[in-house]
Amino acid sequence: MRNKLIAGNWKMQGSLAGNPVLLNAVATGVATLPAVSFAVLVPFPYLVQARDYLSGTSCAWGAQDVSEENSGAYTGEVAVSMLSDLGCRYVIVGHSERRARHGESDERVAAKAWRALEGGVTPIVCVGETLSERETGQTLAVVYRQLDAVMQRLGPGLLAKTVLAYEPVWAIGTGRSATPEQAQEVHAALRARVAQADAIVSSGLQILYGGSVKPGNAIELMRLPDVDGALVGGASLVAGDFLGIGQAAASA
Ligand code: PEP
Repeated sequence: MRNKLIAGNWKMQGSLAGNPVLLNAVATGVATLPAVSFAVLVPFPYLVQARDYLSGTSCAWGAQDVSEENSGAYTGEVAVSMLSDLGCRYVIVGHSERRARHGESDERVAAKAWRALEGGVTPIVCVGETLSERETGQTLAVVYRQLDAVMQRLGPGLLAKTVLAYEPVWAIGTGRSATPEQAQEVHAALRARVAQADAIVSSGLQILYGGSVKPGNAIELMRLPDVDGALVGGASLVAGDFLGIGQAAASA
């Protein structure tokens, strides 16, 4: 039985003055939903604040990217040791916005996932196809290519310590979620792909769905057999919506 994880990706949003209201509301709300795991992935400058408000609660915190390098002359990058210094449990790697805007290759995403695990932080590895890739029938080929790079770099032992997130690019921030049928088809295919390498790892692997998840569509998504939670962007900035998605996961 896989636990459900609801992870909030704040993206490049928030403020030192405004964050406490959201963090306090999340800290209070998650206490009422003990069967579900929660995390918020905040901009680097707010990690200390997230730690200060969420320590001792059942909501973990983490970052949205990490360097594949250990330390050294890498201006602007953040090492996994810095994330673990701040108590981060999770880090997103390979979000489509980073793949698209920063040219992150499948191999680089895999290297980041490996580095995160080496530093004791759980990577949430994002995979997903663009609209044109879906419309030309390439969805599974694309997500397999992205997943295979990670499986090759990590091997089954480290893959077992990873969270996967299926995020169709066309559903992110658009208000147009994948249908339950579309989500289940890809989640089941990803799980089957992992099973070809290791059936036990496959059955325990948490695979989150991300892309315009809201309280209104979360119930049907969270009930899908191969969906183990959600990676939530916009709705994670509204405490009631974020917790509402958690409620849907709890009742699924
Ligand atoms: C995301 O940023 O990972 C995401 C899924 O965003 P949204 O929920 O806003 O579509």
